[in-house]
Amino acid sequence: MSTQLVHTRTDLRAAIDDLGGPGGDVGVVMTMGALHDGHRELVHVARARCAVVVVTVFLNPLQFAPTEDLSRYPKTLESDVALCEAEGVDVVFAPSADEVYPAGRPQVQVHAGPLGDLLEGASRPGHFDGVLTVVAKLLNLTQPDVAYFGQKDAQQLLLIARMVQDLNFPVEVDAVPTVRDPDGLALSSRNTYLTDSDRLAALSLSRALFAGVAEEATGADAVRRAAHAVLDAEPSTALDYLALVDPMTLAEVDDEAQGGALLAVAARVGTTRLIDNVPVTLRDR
Ligand code: AMP
Repeated sequence: MSTQLVHTRTDLRAAIDDLGGPGGDVGVVMTMGALHDGHRELVHVARARCAVVVVTVFLNPLQFAPTEDLSRYPKTLESDVALCEAEGVDVVFAPSADEVYPAGRPQVQVHAGPLGDLLEGASRPGHFDGVLTVVAKLLNLTQPDVAYFGQKDAQQLLLIARMVQDLNFPVEVDAVPTVRDPDGLALSSRNTYLTDSDRLAALSLSRALFAGVAEEATGADAVRRAAHAVLDAEPSTALDYLALVDPMTLAEVDDEAQGGALLAVAARVGTTRLIDNVPVTLRDR
C-alpha cells in the first residue's frame, strides 16, 4: 500500500479511519520536514510496532521567534514523501499554517512551565510553548496510541512527556536515540546550512560531548572540564551553553552527583545554531 499524502484535517481523519479497520496501534512521528536518517529511524521504530504509521510534516511558525530561521528552513516535501514511501509510512499529513491555525495565532496555548525556561528555553523564550501547543494539536488530530520523539531534542522530549503526563493525553511517548553521521555529527535538518568549514567546526560539539562521557567515572566537574576543553579549542564555534544536568529537572548537577545525567550543548557555527546532547552515567567514586 502506498503512502497517502493529505493536507487537511478532514482528509487526515478519513485516511486514518480507513486504515484503522481491524485495530492495532496508530503511531505518529512529528517532524518539520527536510527529513533525514534521524527521522527515518523514528519512522522505522514506529513501523516495527504500529499497524498504522502517520508522519506529520509541519513547519510550526509558533515555535520560531521573528529573528530565527523560519523563512530559510529547508522545504523538501517531495523527497520527504519519497522517504516515507520507502519506509512504508501509511499517511503523511502536511498541512498549511492556515489548516493548523485557522483562526491565526491561537489565543489558548500550552505553557511549558519552569522546565521550558531552562537551556533551550533560556535562549529561545516561548519556544517550548509553541512546540507543546502544536504537539497537543497534532496529538488531537492524529489520536495515536504511540508518539515517537528523538533524544536529539532531549528537552523537547522531556517537556512532551511531562505535558502528556500532566494533562493526561491518552498516548505513550517513546524516545528514539540520536542518529549521527559516522564522524559523530548529530543529524539535523539545519546541517544543510553548514558550509564545509562550518561542518568541520560543528564536529566540536559531538567531540566535546564524547570527551565528557569519557570522564563520567571521574565526576561531574571532570565531565564539564573535558567537554569545555574541546569547545575552547574551536574558535569558530560560539558556545551558547554547555550544561551537565539532571535529566528530569534539568538542574545542573554537582560534583558529588551519581547516576544518570544529561550533557547538553548549544552553539552557533557560522549562521547556524546547533544543539546536541548525550546521556552520561556518573559513577560512585
Ligand atoms: P524536527 O523535524 O527537527 O522537528 O525533528 C522531528 C523529530 O525527529 C523530533 O522528535 C526530533 O527529536 C527527531 N530527530 C531529529 N534529528 C534526529 C536525530 N539525529 N536522531 C534522532 N531523532 C532525531
